[in-house]
Amino acid sequence: MDSKVLYILILSGILNVGYCGVIKDKTEDPNTLIDIDGYLEKYGYMESRPPFETEEEILNSDAYRKTAIRKFQSFAGLDATGILNDATIDAMRKPRCGVKDIQTPEEVAQADRPLNFYAPGYKWPSKTITWRASRPTRKLSEATQRYAFENAFKYWSDVTPLKFEYTYGEPDIDIQFAVRDHGDGRYNAFDGKGGVLAHAYYPTNGDTHFDDEESWVFRKNEGTDIETVAAHEFGHALGLGHSSEPKSLMAPFYQGFNPDFKLHEDDIRGIQSLYGTKDGEITTTHAPTTTSSGNDVTPVSPTVCNMKFDAMTLGPDGFTYVFRNKTVYRLNNTGVVATMLSRHVYPGAPRSPGAAVYMDNTKNTFIFKGRRIWRYTGFQLDADYPITITDSNYPTRIHAAIAFKSTGSTAQQIYLFNDNSFWEFNPNTNSIVPGFPLTISGFWRGIPAGIEAAIQWTDGDIYFFKGDKYRRFDADRRTLTKGYPKDKAPAWLGSVCGSAPK
Ligand SMILES: [Zn+2]
Ligand SMILES: [Zn+2]
Repeated sequence: MDSKVLYILILSGILNVGYCGVIKDKTEDPNTLIDIDGYLEKYGYMESRPPFETEEEILNSDAYRKTAIRKFQSFAGLDATGILNDATIDAMRKPRCGVKDIQTPEEVAQADRPLNFYAPGYKWPSKTITWRASRPTRKLSEATQRYAFENAFKYWSDVTPLKFEYTYGEPDIDIQFAVRDHGDGRYNAFDGKGGVLAHAYYPTNGDTHFDDEESWVFRKNEGTDIETVAAHEFGHALGLGHSSEPKSLMAPFYQGFNPDFKLHEDDIRGIQSLYGTKDGEITTTHAPTTTSSGNDVTPVSPTVCNMKFDAMTLGPDGFTYVFRNKTVYRLNNTGVVATMLSRHVYPGAPRSPGAAVYMDNTKNTFIFKGRRIWRYTGFQLDADYPITITDSNYPTRIHAAIAFKSTGSTAQQIYLFNDNSFWEFNPNTNSIVPGFPLTISGFWRGIPAGIEAAIQWTDGDIYFFKGDKYRRFDADRRTLTKGYPKDKAPAWLGSVCGSAPK
């Protein structure tokens, strides 16, 4: 049995201060306790706060909590009294989706990821959306799962111009079954059987995760119906938030398997406000209660300023490209000018590439990830790519790469960097040049270990990126330029991050 140490805050008309204590659950499992404040914070009804000190703060916090409970009650279709009664606690105990009910535009922009993540879009730019279950559950056959997911997508494609295609490559919507902490941060960890069943990320992330400790079933009442939950989660992956209409699919609570299930009017209005009707019209006559995740989100949010650069390269069009997760940012001399899915700029490109370089003599761009390399001419992926490098000297943890050219020379060398070492890669033989690796500190004096991205830029200097700083390196004199490191975001991402010269 899975016992949780959780705390409940007692609220009552008699008490004028809150007391921390533990209340045993009255239902079948006496060890399941509900953390009321934790629940209200997790789902966006309350902000987390530092511990209260004065009596006044405690009194204010009671009023604040009462407002939060009232908001939750109206979302859950209960009388909005603000009083924590049995019906409210029962509603909090219902199996549900892990996505927040109430989200600020900033949170939508970062799609519940840690601050260094930023989901720039809020709907998919293309009408054809690819999907794959890269980590299926063992509780159902893969054929059953695929059928269930196809049905779940069909609810949405029936009322919009969207098409969903299964892919063996990098999908738009990647489905994974996982348990407990599964790489989204502890705050988004799954919680064992019951509680959170699944969660999903808004476009253009689209990752959809299911708690593999649930009893997943297909079209049955006992257990949790995979198709129903998938249909709800795909709503998020397409850009819908939670709905306060209790009968809608996008309501946050699991409503059980219903053999006559149909999308609610509210779900249909929500999705059509993003993608239009089946024949391509955008309908905005009635505002849906389903919150479109796109509300009030500007294309470039300040959260972009905290992002790590996975890789960085010049493009064949003269712009600078920064890769992060599935997104590529096009930069000019002053900052970000466009935010796109990297696959839409560099077809077939992997998410979170390790490094990228552009060779201006051949017009080839190389993207590196693990042992694989994607090669482009212009923005076209070359035939037979990606390739897998078999050279045993090839480094697998590449964090950065540059296409290096000294002043007056037309020859370019590709250097690959991991934490402490660098290698020269020969793109004609797909192998490492003999004599490498060399240490970064021995050759690139002043460049720290663990750089995350690098570029030899249009001014001929080499820029190395790590954390929120970057360093400028004089390529001819092989010395670090004075006055660096500097702050990365204002110089490279532009005015949204405070703007500064490079
Ligand atoms: Zn949800
Ligand atoms: Zn997850």
